[in-house]
Amino acid sequence: MIFSMTTAVSHRVAGSLFGLAYGDALGKPTEFLSVAEIENRYGPTGPRDLVGDPALVTDDTQMALAVAWALHDAPEFTPEAVQPLLRQRFLTWAGSPDNNRAPGMTCLRACAELSRGLPWQQATVIDSKGCGANMRVTPVGLLAIDPDTLAGLAQLQAGLTHGHPTGLAASELTAYAVWLLRAGAALAELPGLLTDRVDEQRKVYRDDWLGDLWRRAGAATPQEFIAAGWDECGAALGRLDAALSAPDEGGDPCRLTGAGWIAEEALATALYCALRHAEDPVGALARGARTAGDSDSIAALAGAFVGAAQGMAAWPTRWAEQIEYADQLAALSADRD
Ligand SMILES: [Mg+2]
Repeated sequence: MIFSMTTAVSHRVAGSLFGLAYGDALGKPTEFLSVAEIENRYGPTGPRDLVGDPALVTDDTQMALAVAWALHDAPEFTPEAVQPLLRQRFLTWAGSPDNNRAPGMTCLRACAELSRGLPWQQATVIDSKGCGANMRVTPVGLLAIDPDTLAGLAQLQAGLTHGHPTGLAASELTAYAVWLLRAGAALAELPGLLTDRVDEQRKVYRDDWLGDLWRRAGAATPQEFIAAGWDECGAALGRLDAALSAPDEGGDPCRLTGAGWIAEEALATALYCALRHAEDPVGALARGARTAGDSDSIAALAGAFVGAAQGMAAWPTRWAEQIEYADQLAALSADRD
């Protein structure tokens, strides 16, 4: 927060994109370890430095890059323009030899269906709210767009693979959080602003972006379909508020706000890490990486949030050349205003 008054927007974009990759890289080796195993290996703070040159990321960053490039290439931000670009980027990712980073089953299954040329509403895994759509959405929040366009883009990119309404709503909230930070909001303001968004959007089904997805889910009405997703996100934000109102005991945040394998928990637990360690950005990543849950996704989202708030000054300078895909991250950062 101490940087927020002077951090230029372009540095916030870079800070968020690189922060996502940094958190992902720190959480990569700890994703399937218990907290005790992580502390045995890294000490009580968890991992605080990148390892390897390049320091490898996971599918989280790979898919976020896919989203970012699709947005970069889009002539306009409409569903007609963006959907084919997202589809192509996801299929390229799915078929890449570098897609060997413990990718999520939902993404693999949906991409197999997308590759058959089906409408995305038929290809999507209709009942999945895994965090795979959420961990890749933050580039949407870095665009200079209005909140309705942000909502449509965030939900569309989610829906291509994850058709559950909570996956859609959590992706929008995650992108909206980054968008607010990019515009200068403070990290501490996010829980309240996101809860307001839940209340405002609860009955808003974006049929121009989502088409007949609600029918395929078997919902009685579009409003009923989407409200179920916002309600689950609202409950997760309620647990976040409760966790933040208590003293930080320093334990595994997954015990407070969820393990993060599902979308709304990944958002809440990443926000917990970001807010608790706003004055120590690397500490926010380490806190996310030192969890029994989905460590890479939690740390990645925490990095995207803190980086959007504080810019590249949040991160050790040398990491910018050590991280995998540094060239793409830099190109996408330079691309923005
Ligand atoms: Mg991953």
